[in-house]
Amino acid sequence: RKLGVALVGLGKYSTGQLAPALQQTQLCRLAGIVTGTPAKAKQWQRQYNLPATSVYDYKTMDRMADNPAIDIVYIVLPNALHAEYTIRALEAGKHVICEKPMATSVADCRRMLAAAQKAGKQLSIGYRLHFEPHHHEMMRLGQQQVFGQVKQLVADNGFRFGNDTPWRVNKELSGGGPLQDLGIYCVQGVVYTKGQVPVSVTAKYGPKPAGNLFKEVEAAMSWQMQFADGSVADCRTSYAENLSSRLRAEAARGWMELQPAFGYGGLRGSTSQGPMNIQNVNQQARQMDDFADCVLNNKPTRVPGEMGLRDVQLIEAIYRAANTGQKVSTTDVKAVLDKT
Ligand code: NAD
Repeated sequence: RKLGVALVGLGKYSTGQLAPALQQTQLCRLAGIVTGTPAKAKQWQRQYNLPATSVYDYKTMDRMADNPAIDIVYIVLPNALHAEYTIRALEAGKHVICEKPMATSVADCRRMLAAAQKAGKQLSIGYRLHFEPHHHEMMRLGQQQVFGQVKQLVADNGFRFGNDTPWRVNKELSGGGPLQDLGIYCVQGVVYTKGQVPVSVTAKYGPKPAGNLFKEVEAAMSWQMQFADGSVADCRTSYAENLSSRLRAEAARGWMELQPAFGYGGLRGSTSQGPMNIQNVNQQARQMDDFADCVLNNKPTRVPGEMGLRDVQLIEAIYRAANTGQKVSTTDVKAVLDKT
């Protein structure tokens, strides 16, 4: 049997990416929904042929505990709600995928990890690029030092924010601006290409454009991550500007680069030896099938909650560096690393 996945929050990402991807998965299928909008519930029920017994709202979702058709709960809500709903799903006895960023504080991440441990269920983060072959190639080239030691990295990810999802500029719901939402991909890309977590970070807020869209969260951030061997990564993210979407590494005897690097498709890669010529895949289908495989075969996921915690710790360090203007040590961040 295919494992049943319930999506919690039927916004843009669930509607545009996850539900369509679940039509292409081999090991799991869309088996339930949680939504606060009755009209959406009806429409999804019809469109995806869901039984009424697998349609919940935010108050009734705990009753999933009695629904054997749902094995995995996927939390696709505004960032500040990830912790509460992840914990409720774990307490209902389900395995959980929680969207990125894992939570809006390190303390919440730790509560989520404790809940997963107590429930004896797997908790993974919706890190789709860890299942994407261009990114695997960056991991291989960087970590195996195919062109020698990686000395310098550059990553940027940003787009002009149109306020179509207003919670993203509401600090209470988002936890922060583009660093939480888009910059997190730069943090990860650098860490898995280098194969190390940084030992320190420095950071600077970008200018706020005119208008009051960015009253509560940063409009842009530039930061540097420093590694133990002296190598550095320069990163940038923004909601005020369309950035190039790039992940590049300079090594002792060559370079490798993805551009565009972070989208759902259309990724392209090259190295100092020529184009990568790698096919794009349905990232979300791969990610969810991999998690289903981990659940079915009791294997650890490559994107566990501990990795989500690592990234939230690094993000908090970047905000601290920007707020103080000081270099912030990150040597206390546990190196949960992707293997090639
Ligand atoms: P969205 O605004 O389109 O959807 C959020 C959903 O949450 C909506 O259906 C909304 O009704 C619901 N919701 C429930 N309670 C709410 C509340 N109190 N306030 C506001 N909305 C509430 O957002 P989205 O773009 O789908 O993002 C959802 C999550 O998915 C975020 O954590 C985001 O970071 C993540 N995401 C990940 C990727 C990825 O590539 N992995 C891409 C997009 C979004």
